[in-house]
Amino acid sequence: MPNVKCSVTECKWNNSIECHAPMIQVDRNGSGNASNSDQTKCDTFRTK
Ligand code: SF4
Repeated sequence: MPNVKCSVTECKWNNSIECHAPMIQVDRNGSGNASNSDQTKCDTFRTK
């Protein structure tokens, strides 16, 4: 996977502000079409 910078350090995949998951899935954060990044979310997030 290309380098993914992520500041969600409470995620189990996060190490030194980088994502180390083998792949991530990102979805819309709601039912409508996204028009900015606030309307997307990482579904691969897991608590430590
Ligand atoms: S899985 Fe998502 S939330 Fe977790 S470190 Fe990777 S990009 Fe960030």
